[in-house]
Amino acid sequence: MAEENYRTDLTYDAADEYRPEPIPPPEIAAWKDGSIRIGIHTSIAGDIAGALDIAHGLGANALQIFSSSPRMWGHGSSRIAETDAARFRQRRVGLQLGPLVIHGNYLINLASPSPVLRTRSVQGFHQEIVRALALGADYLVIHPGSGLGTSVDSAIAAVAQGLRQAARGLKLGELRILLENTAGQGSTLGSRFEELKAILDACPDLPLGVCVDTAHTFAAGWSIDTEAGLEGTLRDIDRTVGLDRVAVVHVNDSKTPLGSRVDRHEHIGKGKIGLQAFGRILNHPLLAKCAFILETPIDKPGDDKRNVATLWRLTGRVVRATGPGMKPRPTKSHKVRASKAGVRQKTRSRGK
Ligand SMILES: [Zn+2]
Ligand SMILES: [Zn+2]
Repeated sequence: MAEENYRTDLTYDAADEYRPEPIPPPEIAAWKDGSIRIGIHTSIAGDIAGALDIAHGLGANALQIFSSSPRMWGHGSSRIAETDAARFRQRRVGLQLGPLVIHGNYLINLASPSPVLRTRSVQGFHQEIVRALALGADYLVIHPGSGLGTSVDSAIAAVAQGLRQAARGLKLGELRILLENTAGQGSTLGSRFEELKAILDACPDLPLGVCVDTAHTFAAGWSIDTEAGLEGTLRDIDRTVGLDRVAVVHVNDSKTPLGSRVDRHEHIGKGKIGLQAFGRILNHPLLAKCAFILETPIDKPGDDKRNVATLWRLTGRVVRATGPGMKPRPTKSHKVRASKAGVRQKTRSRGK
């Protein structure tokens, strides 16, 4: 090739120049203002954005949803249309609801020894992450699964590998995946915090955290109904997964007794854990950075509103029956309550 031609090939074109994309400054979401966050699991039936208005109308300032049918595998495309997702995100900002927690499909079992179910589970959880990102969720909660007779160690390894496979190729950004502790029914993983810790340790590359369900904890044998029992439980959680990784507490009373290993949620104050215990849980300085999300049953109309109101009352706030356009008006921040209680608050950061 003649030298002359070679030179022409190297003509400078400004458009070819590499320009790194400017990194936007991290935005602090409006809900991360240190105020107490009380939420409830809300139905997405009909219109997914409607769940936001329902939660707001019930007096909640946070919420949990399923992002698709929780007991069905997605058929073909289980993606959310971008127009719906954009409308959802916009409405959420308008209502200042947060955090937004998405609960994963119940069929997903990343520990399944069946190759078919395991593959479906990995694909299903991949779609869960995709939908969570589209909706701008803060947390995606998943049950660790069940090895169905395989050893605990191999079940834990399968879950860790499944999580990594499901997240492959996705930029999780601010989204945190939370492993929920379980009641320990059958061979389900996660009734011991050591098992959750082993999964966290096996995935140092993923933004993982923990969701603690009060009914599951109680059914798994932790006596959170008493003051000493709660303190001991929090110590156990801190010693294993670390309290700084607990971002969400599912607040459910339990129909079943301590250590029953059976998971049956009850209205706050109507079960075996009891109202006083929930007062201690909601106001505990070591849980001050957690969002509290109800997953209580609706046996009769108004149960959801009553449970939300009960939680606010336990935090010392009065939130009257709400409707469209009305918001709970927190009166003081968690920090104030913690310092008033004379307890040194542990410095914690959410979702690390
Ligand atoms: Zn759950
Ligand atoms: Zn739960």
